[in-house]
Amino acid sequence: MAHLGQRVRVDGWLTAPDLTGHRQLVAEPPCCPGCLPGSSDGRIRIPASRHLAGGAVRLEGILRRDRTAWVLSDARPAARGIGRRSVLAAPPLLCLAAGAPQTDPRQAIAGMPTVDVHSHAGKLLYVRTQAPFTPVSEPMRQGGLAVACLAIVSDAPTHRIMADHRIHPYRDPAPGELHAYAQRAFARLHALAADQGMPIIADRAALLAARPDRPSAVVAAEGGDFLEGNPDRLDEAYARWQLRHLQLTHYRVNELGDIQTEEPVHGGLTDLGAEVVRRCNRLGIVVDVAHGTLDLVRRAATVTTKPLVLSHTSLTTRPRPFTRLITPEHARLIASTGGMVGIWPVAALFPDMAALAGGIARMAAIVGVDHVGLGTDSMGLVGPATFDSYAQLPDLAAALLATGFSVEDTRKIMGGNYTRVFAASLA
Ligand SMILES: [Zn+2]
Ligand SMILES: [Zn+2]
Repeated sequence: MAHLGQRVRVDGWLTAPDLTGHRQLVAEPPCCPGCLPGSSDGRIRIPASRHLAGGAVRLEGILRRDRTAWVLSDARPAARGIGRRSVLAAPPLLCLAAGAPQTDPRQAIAGMPTVDVHSHAGKLLYVRTQAPFTPVSEPMRQGGLAVACLAIVSDAPTHRIMADHRIHPYRDPAPGELHAYAQRAFARLHALAADQGMPIIADRAALLAARPDRPSAVVAAEGGDFLEGNPDRLDEAYARWQLRHLQLTHYRVNELGDIQTEEPVHGGLTDLGAEVVRRCNRLGIVVDVAHGTLDLVRRAATVTTKPLVLSHTSLTTRPRPFTRLITPEHARLIASTGGMVGIWPVAALFPDMAALAGGIARMAAIVGVDHVGLGTDSMGLVGPATFDSYAQLPDLAAALLATGFSVEDTRKIMGGNYTRVFAASLA
């Protein structure tokens, strides 16, 4: 359908808000309150917004069709300057696409280090069974992805999905167990990279030079559990495994701090966690605070001298207990360090690419487009993902452009922001 899912401009008359704060955009002023066109094709629902006055308006927003109505999301007053027209008899046919002429999404993200900031692709996590690897570099090449931050899961032996359908630790690790496990997991990561012909990125020049014709990997760890409280092991992992991206906590309240999915124990980041952040800053390791509590992020943001990453999540304004999503306050803390938040392609939240692009846009509206990116958690999600293969990445670029992001902003989201953070962290 013409313009569906695109940013458009529409003229009309904006009614007063109803009880839920929604308004209707109609072609002519209604003759009396509540008297609206009977056909849903004669009106567009405008979700509640503080920024809109009533009366005759020209709005810009993203046109969608839900089950019962046309909806203009992210609506805001549009600049004048195009011929006025009455558009509402059949909205999708008569609105004006507001974006620039169609950009080829592959071209939009070409010639740059596009990055997935959190991934377990290739069956990386099958450490115990040593299952055969699945393709990583070929779909990356097809989809135009230059860099995958491949993360081992350092507390994997001690957590599982419990009766409440959430992941919890179910036993304490034996002394030395998680360090020993991580050595096998890092070895598997290196074997995967070698198998896939993917160079390991160990310095900023290599990241800046990364391109999708030769996909590369950043060595990451989800959870600093393998340190077992000994920060010297960070130096070991840096040198031995080329670790360049450390997520402090995962599903176990470890020695470094509290997690979103369990009751807090430490009041946020521990002193040892703060020491690990400082040591990451000094060595040149990206600090990732995904899974950490708001209190953990608060202290990490004061301790770190480098930008923070929060690699896989999405925005919520009504957080449930133990949610992995983050509030605007939580997200702004990351942005305040110059860092970035990776948005998750979780199908339950974002059933298709347009919805995922919308989720990225909502986060960008809170923290700014310089502080958002993509963290797929590929092969780590408990439920289905919005997309299955890196080969589908151009569809996300297309959806971002259709949502109204410029080519420059799309490039920031698809890798530019992480590249900036990585370069600063490894400086
Ligand atoms: Zn995770
Ligand atoms: Zn993960």
